[in-house]
Amino acid sequence: MKLGEALMSAQQRLQSVSDSPRLDADLLMQHLTGWSRAQQLTRLQETLDPRDHAAFEALVARRLRGEPVAYLIGERGFWSLSLKVTPEVLVPRPETELLVQWALDVVSGVQAPRIADLGTGSGAIALALASERADALVEAVDLSNSALTVARDNAQTLGLQRVRFLSGNWLEPLSQRYHLLVSNPPYIASSDDHLAALRHEPLMALTDGADGLNALREIISGAQDFLVPGGWLLVEHGYDQGAAVRALFAAAGFAEIETQRDYAGHERASGGRCAGVLT
Ligand code: GLN
Repeated sequence: MKLGEALMSAQQRLQSVSDSPRLDADLLMQHLTGWSRAQQLTRLQETLDPRDHAAFEALVARRLRGEPVAYLIGERGFWSLSLKVTPEVLVPRPETELLVQWALDVVSGVQAPRIADLGTGSGAIALALASERADALVEAVDLSNSALTVARDNAQTLGLQRVRFLSGNWLEPLSQRYHLLVSNPPYIASSDDHLAALRHEPLMALTDGADGLNALREIISGAQDFLVPGGWLLVEHGYDQGAAVRALFAAAGFAEIETQRDYAGHERASGGRCAGVLT
């Protein structure tokens, strides 16, 4: 079997489970062969080593059963970074990059900003922010120690050892005031049909087991105790939670409450500002 034929056959079968069947097949093959995409393209007419082919088919079979490519190859691109991911952490999503961009915008005028990422998972948000702001103090919180291990590994590999990791639930391990708190908490309602398709990812990263607003309630209602005057809280949420989340911000006394939409046009992240002037 030629390399190109193996890729084409996999691509056709992956259409049933994936929005990106060609990319999936390419990434799985690159993972096995160690070739770059460009190298792979020049070798499409070459015969594939039967062992590589068997290993490739095994990965394709797992992908067909719904495992994310990121877990099969152990990594995922996020922002400008390549992150190690394991089934103990959520696979970072492209829409979360919006939250990173918004976070960078709100602290753009602050020197040496203090930032905390609540529920850091793979470390995606915290590490992206640290990579852009060498002067920032970035702390990353997670309740899951296995997630913190993955996040620490990523910090190490990326040379971002300035990021500090704290074990605990949302605001609990914090002990100072920040210019920015940011979080992509579990926000899927336990009744949501989407959960079935996400069965390979950690349930505690996806849902609170209730209406999907429990973590957001806890974070938004308590955040002002950990913000400097003028500091910001930015959170990601579900496409249909914008109004509810803005109401939580308003009830907690935040100012300048706004919502941003994702690439699909859905309300995806909301934020607010602690009364006072950011210093
Ligand atoms: N903060 C991490 C991310 O955005 C993890 C989010 C989560 O597990 N809910 O990828």
